[in-house]
Amino acid sequence: MSAEGYPHPTSSAVVAVMKGNRSRDTLPEVRLRSELHALGLRFRKDYAVVLPDRRVKVDVAFSRRRLAVFVDGCFWHGCPEHGHNPRKNTHYWGPKLERNRRRDEAVTRGLETEGWRVLRLWEHVPPEQAALEVVAAFREASREG
Ligand SMILES: [Zn+2]
Repeated sequence: MSAEGYPHPTSSAVVAVMKGNRSRDTLPEVRLRSELHALGLRFRKDYAVVLPDRRVKVDVAFSRRRLAVFVDGCFWHGCPEHGHNPRKNTHYWGPKLERNRRRDEAVTRGLETEGWRVLRLWEHVPPEQAALEVVAAFREASREG
């Protein structure tokens, strides 16, 4: 008998994803950072920004340009390609993922209100391409700043 309301991860992949949610330096982040370093960009990682209603850690921050980059995990942040709710435990994952989505939006809005430009990249974007998107956003931020 399974307890109603309690998630039972049915595959090692799901377990890995659950663990992945708790670690800060995910592999896609690490790869993006090394690409950015290779391009000569200097930034801060896990940069803390205090908003009126919450404290945010920015994955990759260009603090002077006020550019905040997040590498969003496909599962937890609901990527349209890979973020579909698992068929099992929908009653558990559905609301949880919806809360994550709302929190992401609130974080983005909060940062934008404070004058930050926010770039969210899915973790499935190849690091080279993700780096180019960051460079483009960085240039735009520099023009405006
Ligand atoms: Zn994805």
